[in-house]
Amino acid sequence: MTESAQTQFSMPKAYEPGKVEQKWYKFWLEKGYFTPRIDRKKKPFVIIMPPPNVTGELHVGHALTATLEDIMTRWHRMKGEPTLWLPGLDHAGIAAQVVVEQMLAKEGLDRHKLGRERFLERMRQWAESCRHTIAGQHQRLGVSCDWSRERFTLDAGPSRAVRTAFTRLYQKGLIYRGERIINWCPRCATALSDLEVSHKDVQGHLYYVNYPLAEGHGFITVATTRPETILGDTAVAVNPGDKRFKPLIGKKVVLPAIERVIPILADDAVDPDFGTGAVKITPAHDPVDFEVAQRQGLPLVNIMNPDATMNQNAGPYAGLDRFSCRKAILADLERDGLLVKVEPYSHSVGHCDRCQTVIEPVASKQWFVKVKPLAQPATQAITGGRIRIIPEHFTKVYLNWMEDIRDWCISRQLWWGHRIPVWYCQDCSQLTVSIEDAKVCSSCGSAHIEQDPDVLDTWFSSALWPHSTLGWPDDTEDLRYFYPTTVMETGYDILFFWVARMIMMGIEDTGDIPFSTVYLHGLVRDEKGEKMSKVRGNVLNPLDTLEQYGTDALRFALSTGTSPGNDIKLTPARLEAGRNFANKLWNATRFIIGGAKAGGISPQVPPEGHPLEDRWILSRLSRTVASVTSLMADFQFGEAQRQIYDFLWGEFCDWYLEIAKIRLRSEAAAPSPLPVLVYVMETSLRLLHPFMPFLTEELWHNLSGCLPQERRSQSITIAPYPEPVEAAINTDSERVVESVIEIIRAIRNVRAEHKVASAKWTAAQIYADELIAPLTPYARVIETLARAKPVTFHNRRQERPSGENTLVMVLKDAEVAIPMESMVDLKAERKRLGTEIARVEADLARLEARLENRDFLSKAPAAVIDRERSKLAARRDRLEKLREQLTKLG
Ligand SMILES: [Zn+2]
Ligand SMILES: [Zn+2]
Repeated sequence: MTESAQTQFSMPKAYEPGKVEQKWYKFWLEKGYFTPRIDRKKKPFVIIMPPPNVTGELHVGHALTATLEDIMTRWHRMKGEPTLWLPGLDHAGIAAQVVVEQMLAKEGLDRHKLGRERFLERMRQWAESCRHTIAGQHQRLGVSCDWSRERFTLDAGPSRAVRTAFTRLYQKGLIYRGERIINWCPRCATALSDLEVSHKDVQGHLYYVNYPLAEGHGFITVATTRPETILGDTAVAVNPGDKRFKPLIGKKVVLPAIERVIPILADDAVDPDFGTGAVKITPAHDPVDFEVAQRQGLPLVNIMNPDATMNQNAGPYAGLDRFSCRKAILADLERDGLLVKVEPYSHSVGHCDRCQTVIEPVASKQWFVKVKPLAQPATQAITGGRIRIIPEHFTKVYLNWMEDIRDWCISRQLWWGHRIPVWYCQDCSQLTVSIEDAKVCSSCGSAHIEQDPDVLDTWFSSALWPHSTLGWPDDTEDLRYFYPTTVMETGYDILFFWVARMIMMGIEDTGDIPFSTVYLHGLVRDEKGEKMSKVRGNVLNPLDTLEQYGTDALRFALSTGTSPGNDIKLTPARLEAGRNFANKLWNATRFIIGGAKAGGISPQVPPEGHPLEDRWILSRLSRTVASVTSLMADFQFGEAQRQIYDFLWGEFCDWYLEIAKIRLRSEAAAPSPLPVLVYVMETSLRLLHPFMPFLTEELWHNLSGCLPQERRSQSITIAPYPEPVEAAINTDSERVVESVIEIIRAIRNVRAEHKVASAKWTAAQIYADELIAPLTPYARVIETLARAKPVTFHNRRQERPSGENTLVMVLKDAEVAIPMESMVDLKAERKRLGTEIARVEADLARLEARLENRDFLSKAPAAVIDRERSKLAARRDRLEKLREQLTKLG
């Protein structure tokens, strides 16, 4: 048995992704290809993976992230750069705690019953199992990341980075504790940052309420959307320029329902056009009112418990839920004649991103980061061009946000996360901030200290991710070599949550930018363009699609033809296209190795005397390689993959391979096309590898039996990425072969239009000028691929048959004339047309007679007459066309 025959037999008929994917992933891991070797002479390529939340499973958005980052990583690795893609996982604070709390609820437990330590133990166990699931799912996606450097936000290293960053910011005065209005989720019982609140337009009401003056008669009317907050009012305010209220400034009113006396005062913040122009001031439950209260020295009256029931400050309403309280207070106001009117009112209401509960703005003592000083260098990094954002239009979005940035509330009333490294002293009431666990008060030395019970916002540790994963605050070899990283690839929806904060904290902690390029991808949507969500029920589980179509088909569907920042539609049609492409390449490779011999590979430029199609395909390959390389360098991965697809399917498989089959069947002693087939396929597989890693590895191993010993390698993963070969570019051969393709396509189209049976041959006369000589050898190819016989060539100066029974197509470099009789049986067609004409004529005569009949015209309804008239017009049209066709046949 020959070697080629052996390889053929080892390749199954169809590509079965399930049989090869795990084998190759294991092989790559065993060989250690994903762990870079530090080489100080080379600049590394580094991506830190956005750590998925440790909450269950990966979704299709993660599959997109994984695909794009793997494309970049594999490409750079093949270019010979030390390449690090560092994977990790985020503890996900509130999102994870909510999941475990729900699990506990099913067991009739809650975290308070368990206690902090046992609850955290449960969280850790659960996180550990999710960590395994997620790593396994990532591996199935083919990610070529360095698992030896995998990090979890709660690992010792990143945790120490968090405490170090906190302590340093505190010492610089950039972290402080203060009472501010924060977003409180009563269900989650924690503070949230502004970014964790989603604002929804809600159809509510605007209630106009009379506040009686404390002395004398009269009222001042205020408008509010939240009447229950009346209980927390500490003033009524008007604009100082508002003449209507001038006499009332300095007077006092009595709060309805609880009869507290509060002042009327003037403040510039009041908009005279809102409601009545007089507004109630509720400093403990409204951010604007809080500021007014700070300016005016007003007290804060908090009227709610953490679960949004009313507290003792609400007097008779204490114990009611905030919405029941609203109903009760409205009823009382109505009874007392103080509710003046109610208007429908549409306004924006904040909801908890996590559980959709209505947020309560509430004054609370929390920890904040003073962001403005950090935002300045982070802005300059972008405006100075040290960091590039792709697509570019997000630069403006980023800069606008940086300009209006507000202090960041970083404390959360949760248990799962990095506990705030602050200890309060019970003896001297000073606080101790420390990287290591504090044992005694740093002020008085007392051991009576207690750690702040809160944890940090999960995005605080995420903000340190690029440097904390590489070993910061220690001066590690990884940090020195791999930092700043190269690309941060993530979704545009977390530009502020994450990207902006990494830039701020990276520069603050290390003095250097965390990455030089930000690549933002779009969202994955369904066929109808809708965002995939559990609520809509249109979520495609990436693992199901892997089972059904294979990993490479999913990767193909997620990346081909897409562009940075634009949303992606993931449809079954795209997945099928990916699977079909894999099968096409499988069959092509199978054909090639079926005929090729070991060592049979073409040189980069075919020798003289080879058929033009050899020069053509090698020229096209070189152009494709050049174009793909420049697209990749410009982050246009979707377009790069589309071009590889077009080349492989539309030029190599559809044309070169088909022409090669004709050559292989012919007896003539022309050079075999097999070395070119091997060369083009082998190069193309390397070109495609970053996009479809499993398929290309499998095919490449099968094909490598055809390569000379010195060209074989362990794995396509570490084979060099193709480079364009300038000398292979050959415009003349491109023009000729493209003309051949155009001729075949034209004949095929005409045959399809005339529904010519595939067994029937069509004659073709080809007219050209200087291409006549190079086109002539393609008679056989045109004959076979277009079902055209005989094919004859003529100079355009010669007379081509004109007349009605010839169809002429004018192409770019040639004209093709096809006698009608070679497509249709003229005699039979004439007869058929004759019969049809006679039938239409008879029909026409009948209609004409009827429409001339006065009796019919006077009796028939107008609609019937109209219908007959339009029938008549249609028959006349038809008759004209049939007569034209008959004339054409001559
Ligand atoms: Zn919530
Ligand atoms: Zn102390």
